[in-house]
Amino acid sequence: MLNDSDIARLEAIVGQANVSVRKADLEAHSIDESWFEPHLPDVVVWPSSTEHIAAILRHANERRIPVVPWSGGSSLEGNPIPVHGGIILAMYRMDKILEIREDDLQVVVQPGIVYDNLNAQLRRLGLYFPPAPGSADVATIGGMVANNSSGMRAVKYGGTRDYVLKLVVVLPNGEVITVGSNARKSSSGYDLVSLFVGSEGTLGVVSEITLRLIGLPEKVGVAVAVFDGLNDATDAIYECIRSGLTPSAIELLDAATVRVTNQQQGLSLRETPTLFAEFDGSESAVEEQLEFLRELCEESHCIDFQVATSAEAREKLWAARKEARESIKQSHPGQTMISGDVCVPISRFGEMVAFVHEVSERSGVLIYAFGHAGDGNLHTETIVRREDPEEFARGLRATEEIIEHAIDLGGTATGEHGVGLGKRQFMRKEHGASLEVMRAIKHLLDPNGIMNPGKIFPDTYLRRTNVMELLREGAKTLGLTLGPKHLAAFETYYRELESWNRRFNLTAITGYEDVQCKHFLDSLSCLLALPQEDKPSVIPDTVPLQRSARRLWCLDVGSGAGFPGLPLKIMLPEAKMTLVEATGKKVVFLRHIVQVLGLQDVEVLHARAEDVGHMPEHRECYDLVTARAVAHLAVVAEYCLPLCRLGGRVVVPKGEDAHEEVQAAQRALAELGGTLVDVKPVSLPGIPGRRYLVVLDKVARTPENYPRRAGIPSKRPLR
Ligand SMILES: Cc1cc2nc3c(=O)[nH]c(=O)nc-3n(C[C@H](O)[C@H](O)[C@H](O)COP(=O)(O)OP(=O)(O)OC[C@H]3O[C@@H](n4cnc5c(N)ncnc54)[C@H](O)[C@@H]3O)c2cc1C
Repeated sequence: MLNDSDIARLEAIVGQANVSVRKADLEAHSIDESWFEPHLPDVVVWPSSTEHIAAILRHANERRIPVVPWSGGSSLEGNPIPVHGGIILAMYRMDKILEIREDDLQVVVQPGIVYDNLNAQLRRLGLYFPPAPGSADVATIGGMVANNSSGMRAVKYGGTRDYVLKLVVVLPNGEVITVGSNARKSSSGYDLVSLFVGSEGTLGVVSEITLRLIGLPEKVGVAVAVFDGLNDATDAIYECIRSGLTPSAIELLDAATVRVTNQQQGLSLRETPTLFAEFDGSESAVEEQLEFLRELCEESHCIDFQVATSAEAREKLWAARKEARESIKQSHPGQTMISGDVCVPISRFGEMVAFVHEVSERSGVLIYAFGHAGDGNLHTETIVRREDPEEFARGLRATEEIIEHAIDLGGTATGEHGVGLGKRQFMRKEHGASLEVMRAIKHLLDPNGIMNPGKIFPDTYLRRTNVMELLREGAKTLGLTLGPKHLAAFETYYRELESWNRRFNLTAITGYEDVQCKHFLDSLSCLLALPQEDKPSVIPDTVPLQRSARRLWCLDVGSGAGFPGLPLKIMLPEAKMTLVEATGKKVVFLRHIVQVLGLQDVEVLHARAEDVGHMPEHRECYDLVTARAVAHLAVVAEYCLPLCRLGGRVVVPKGEDAHEEVQAAQRALAELGGTLVDVKPVSLPGIPGRRYLVVLDKVARTPENYPRRAGIPSKRPLR
């Protein structure tokens, strides 16, 4: 995507030594701490001033080159992975404290400064910036602003957003703006500071940050309470918050998490649900609150309660909580951790924790649960072996269930890690119509989509001039005009397919051009076999007649990675679509892509067609049944015709052997109630040789004994 003159331009801006295309540098910026696949950028650039960033963005915007800011790379949701390649803006060299305004309790910093380093320098002035993420030793202030990170102290002190007063932001076109002021509060216009906080580098690059600070507390005390059961522990947390206690942290570890922490940190905590609480303030206030907490915990049947006020004892007790994620990681070398960080209203926290355990048991995958309980933020780590696609799929599904449940409880998909790649598919469920407002803001600030493309929104893509060009042109030969929304959907579909395929081997066809022609276009060609009145209205000569009172019911047998069912659904948004797929990993992908594309009324059945054919809710119900690259026509007919309603249609794309297959399937068609309507030749750009659509109509009921038992149609085809 970048050419030599782009590199030369970047070198002219920041100096040759600050631009690298070395493999080691590209690899170091290809993956964060998440489980996603790495993706190489084209180049890494180290700016050292706002002016550098502005000049780089101006050039990138003109040339439509993706730009991804990168600070500590410690994100857990793929937030800084450059999925579209392009430029990594590595912020490490912009790590200075620019000004400490001690009298106002404020500090002005560059984005690359690490959280712990900032607080170490503020401590000598008796000040600090409280959010305290678990990654405090690597997370930078820029990354924290971009993810709206928080941490253990959010329950009392809030998250990053609550401390940002002013930002200098470089917009995607290179314009530099300042948002906010040094005033502690303001009612002046829209809150643009809050807009940029949590925008994950999708709206611009933050180059200077003014934070408000607080004074270091006089005294800190820590308590650890141990419970027999999770319900007791979550009851105690609820009572603590409800009764007006103000812990500066209140953290929960489930029994499994305590177990691995003991193992890895050499601790000897009782391996049952454990609560860690911290109070700060004056000595008497800390003591009073610790005592009150003891009473509440005892009422909730705690079996042990220990207090530590000396710094050393506190550190020892907190080690378990601080190192929880690391301990889990070390306990499962070579395995994948799928992270979650849902957040729910505090009254539903206990229910949420119980649900996680239920999902773990039901799905048979190990899920650790721990987190910032006081503000309803629950972290989960789902442990799977990536080389076992079935287990991996179960792990993904389990994590999805947890997130969906949290949203149903009035919560959010992510309390502090951000959306990145991992939570995009839940944005529609969580935000509904307001997602479109967010999208409009993104479009206003970044009309060319260069800033961290592919993040937050389920279907953002880089607005290149040649998006899905082959598909758009090829579709014209089918009489279809694809609009920007269709092209965006197909582009997203391609990106997800390409990315998932690297793990799951869903298809052998992966190139951008090949997927457009051999998957998308080939799938869309099925529309040519629809009766005129059912064709999508984008086909110019359509007479929009309804064949029946209800909308079109479609079913795709052996959908694989979704072909032809999903391209058809994209073009027929009103239709009901059922996808039948027997392979677990493909089912997981199908459910994922349906969510990412925001397709309504799509059912994904993890089943064999022979079984679905006997289910009353599916048998002889569908107006249109398709099957592509599934089996010989005689076999496909036995899968499809039992599902097709009387008067409905079966469409099967085939290659050069179509006529031969039709001949060999005569008996099957007659026996199953089908009749041949057409073997329609289709010539598609980008696909060598001729393609055919075998079109069958359902003219008689299929005898009840069909389809035969799973596996029999392919072993003994009706010929
Ligand atoms: C062990 C561990 C524990 C963690 N615990 C917590 C926790 O308790 N709480 C929590 O919130 N998170 C936690 N995290 C997640 C992560 O550390 C935080 O989200 C952190 O703030 C990311 O900062 P970073 O500097 O690493 O940013 P990066 O990962 O480099 O980037 C984060 C995002 O910000 C964008 N970005 C970076 N710099 C800029 C900039 N200058 N302008 C605009 N956009 C920018 C990037 O493009 C990316 O989208 C944890 C991670 C780990 C590995």
